[in-house]
Amino acid sequence: MIQSLRLRLMLWSALVLVGTVCGFGWAVHWSVARSLEMELDGELEISAAALDATLRLFWSKELNTPPPPGEGMDGEGPPPFWPGGKGKDRPMPGFRPLPPMRMRPEVRARLLSELKLPPKSRISPDQFFAVWAQDGTLLKAEGLPEGTDCPDLEDGQPYFQKRMEHRELSILGPGRSVILVGTPMEPVGRRLWPLDRNLLLAGSGIIVLGLLGQWWISRQIFKPLKRIAETAAGLSAKSLEARIDPATVDVELRDLATVLNSSFSRLEESFKRQAAFTADASHELRTPLAVIRGQAELALSRPRENADYVKALQVCQGSAERMGDLVERLLTLARADAEFPGMESVPVDLAKLVSSVLAELPEGATVDREIRPAQVQGDPVLLRQLAQNLVANALKHGGKSVRVSLRSQEGKAILKVRDKGPGIAEKDLPRIFDRFYRVDKARARSERGPGGAGLGLSICREIVVRHGGSITCQSIVGHETLFRVELPARSES
Ligand code: ADP
Repeated sequence: MIQSLRLRLMLWSALVLVGTVCGFGWAVHWSVARSLEMELDGELEISAAALDATLRLFWSKELNTPPPPGEGMDGEGPPPFWPGGKGKDRPMPGFRPLPPMRMRPEVRARLLSELKLPPKSRISPDQFFAVWAQDGTLLKAEGLPEGTDCPDLEDGQPYFQKRMEHRELSILGPGRSVILVGTPMEPVGRRLWPLDRNLLLAGSGIIVLGLLGQWWISRQIFKPLKRIAETAAGLSAKSLEARIDPATVDVELRDLATVLNSSFSRLEESFKRQAAFTADASHELRTPLAVIRGQAELALSRPRENADYVKALQVCQGSAERMGDLVERLLTLARADAEFPGMESVPVDLAKLVSSVLAELPEGATVDREIRPAQVQGDPVLLRQLAQNLVANALKHGGKSVRVSLRSQEGKAILKVRDKGPGIAEKDLPRIFDRFYRVDKARARSERGPGGAGLGLSICREIVVRHGGSITCQSIVGHETLFRVELPARSES
């Protein structure tokens, strides 16, 4: 299989072109050859008719003029010139036998001398002929090819045939004589040759020109594609801003250019996100690492009290826990990017799951709740993580006035987590689900409990999306914040 589209295109069109030119040439050759053959046949018919006419003339004369008494006849006994019946064994049906006729020698000599072809024909100048009597005796032949026998005209119909490079016509003459006229086919071929040669030359010229044209056209067609490919090839992780200018490509390729441009944009965006993600992740890991190193260096710089060592180790432990939590979240996001491989899809009693999350609240935390039955299909571990993140955020920001509600409505399980905390400014709302986005970075860093890296809500969104649901946030600064999760409810069967 040829891998080049251009080559395939050219091969196919070349095949079509060659086929068309050959077909046309053959049609022209065939129709001219046919008309020459018809002309040739016409000339043979004229010659046969002339011979037939001569024979008829003598035939009727001899029949109507009986030989004068006592006058000698031709040959010994009755010459079987036009005897009635054909041969001894095959009288033709419907044939009325004519009386045996004897021809006087001088009449016979005159007949034989007058029995000749008409003046030279146009395309069959080398005609030959032969006339046989009814019993198969050859009366006269001129130029007859060797080995030519009297044709068998059993049904009396004239017929044309091709034999040994000759075209021949056989007809039944008077008294069931047989007339054969023929001519070599060679003049037809000779006349066709200039035409064939011109057809060959013209056809080859057309094919060569056609192929050149195709090559040029295919070059023109593939030029813009090449340009597009060059632009795509120019893209790299460092220079992703190259785009194809749709104005410079042909109308047919504009859709392709637009699609590719939007793919390039998505690619660029995803590269940027990835780079930002890596930078943010390393930045977030660097802080607790720096703390650990700082504490260790400080503790080791000089001998200290045991209490100081314990304090330093406690700080190190806190930082290590933060790092562990961060790594855990990063892993969750990496799994989310790979569409949570191994994600379960089992019936989950969401009411039970949310209640158990609320039952594990940290000491002193109270949450107002209204939990109604709701069943969903999904991964219980991920759904638990979702509920935990939202409740933890509400508690972190809303303090004591947190309310969690769950109900099933119109085929959806609706989970709401509301708190009366400081709220989120309108400008931050569209970005709070972005990875590493924190509303107040300084505060988040200093007040870090679990999380604090700005990953919790993005993990929530990934979980909700993978379960076919949606998550939104409404907030009034200084008043309240409401997170609303909608998941497809599982119908009880
Ligand atoms: P983190 O893991 O740092 O808490 P999140 O992704 O959970 O990050 O939250 C992103 C940002 O949204 C946080 O910086 C936080 O300030 C803000 N936020 C989240 N939940 C609330 C809430 N209930 N009230 C006010 N701000 C919130």
